[in-house]
Amino acid sequence: MQYESIGEAARNIVSGNTIVVVTDENVKPLYLDRYMQSLKAAGFDVYSFTIAPGEESKSGKVYLELLNYLAEIPLTRADALVALGGGVVGDLTGFAAATYLRGIKVIQVPTTLLAVVDSSIGGKTAINLEAGKNLAGAFHQPALIWRDVSALDTLPEEEYLNGMAEVVKYGVIADAELWKILFNYVNVKNEMPVVIQKCVDIKTRIVHDDEFDTGVRQLLNFGHTIGHAIEKASNFEISHGFAVAKGMAEIARISAEQGWCSKECADEIRQLLENYGFDLSIDYSKEELYDIMLSDKKRKGGVIDLVVPERIGKCRLERVTTQQLKEIL
Ligand code: ADP
Ligand code: ZN
Repeated sequence: MQYESIGEAARNIVSGNTIVVVTDENVKPLYLDRYMQSLKAAGFDVYSFTIAPGEESKSGKVYLELLNYLAEIPLTRADALVALGGGVVGDLTGFAAATYLRGIKVIQVPTTLLAVVDSSIGGKTAINLEAGKNLAGAFHQPALIWRDVSALDTLPEEEYLNGMAEVVKYGVIADAELWKILFNYVNVKNEMPVVIQKCVDIKTRIVHDDEFDTGVRQLLNFGHTIGHAIEKASNFEISHGFAVAKGMAEIARISAEQGWCSKECADEIRQLLENYGFDLSIDYSKEELYDIMLSDKKRKGGVIDLVVPERIGKCRLERVTTQQLKEIL
C-alpha cells in the first residue's frame, strides 16, 4: 500500500473531517509529512501529536496528554486517529481511540516489522502501569491497517531482528512452508513481501477465529511464557523479540525432553534462530523465571497453558500445573 493513497482510503471510512496522526520522534522526520499531505489532499484537517520513542511513552501520563490534546482540538466521534509508528505508537494510539469519547476510529500504519506482522493486527491496545506492561487496555479493532512495507527500509537492524522473532514464531505455530523459506534464506530480506504476507494472513486468521483471546489465539503465545519472564527478569533491557527468541528455543528444548515433540524439531528451531543471529543464552535461574511466570496475568488458578510444538507448522496447548512447571523448567 502506497502512502499517497491513504487519504483516499481514509475518506471511505472516516465520516468526520479531522484526523490526528500520532507518531514518535524517530518516525516523524522520516514519514509524517507524506502521510499528512495525502490526508490533507483528501480534504481532512490534519493535526499531529509526537511522543518520545520507546516503551516509557506507553504511560498513563502520555495517554492523558494525548486525550487532552484531542479534546482541545476538539476531535469528535466521527473523526479518527492514525497511529504512524511501531508497537508503542500503535498500542498507545489504539487505546486512546478505544477510550476517547467512548471510542473513535483508528487507522494503524505500522512502521516496524514487529508492528506490521503482529501488534497492529487484532485490536489489542494498551498502556503500561507501574505494576507491569499492558495492564490497562481494551480490545479495539482498527478501522484500517495501512501496510507500506517500504517503511521498513529505514528500520535499524536490531529492530528488524526484534520483529523476525515473531516471524519465526508464525512458522512454528502455523506454517511449515513459511518455515522452509526462513530456513533456506538466511538473508531473507528479498523474500520479505511474501514472508510478511504469510505472517499477516496467519495472525488475521487466528484473531478472526478468537477475537477475545479465549482459545486458539493463545497459540500466538508460543515462546512468550518464558520470553516474558526473561524480558521482566532483564528489567526490559532485553527487548520483546529477543526475549521471545530465547523463550521459543527453551520451550522447544523442554518439549523435546517431555516427549511433546521430537528432538529434531527442537534442534531445528534452535538452529534457525541461531542462523538469524539470535543469542539464545539465558542468564537467569529457573527459580527466578518460575517466580515471574507465576505472576503472569494469563495464569488461570493453579495451571498454566504452555504452547508447545508438535512439529514445525503445528503447535498445541499443554496444560501444566504450577508444580509441574517448576519441575520441567
Ligand atoms: P516495536 O514496534 O518493536 O514495539 P517501537 O514502537 O518502540 O517498537 O519501535 C522501535 C523503534 O524503532 C523506535 O525507536 C521507533 O522510533 C523506531 N522506528 C519505528 N519505525 C521505524 C522506521 N520505519 N524506521 C526507523 N525507525 C523506526
Ligand atoms: Zn510477541
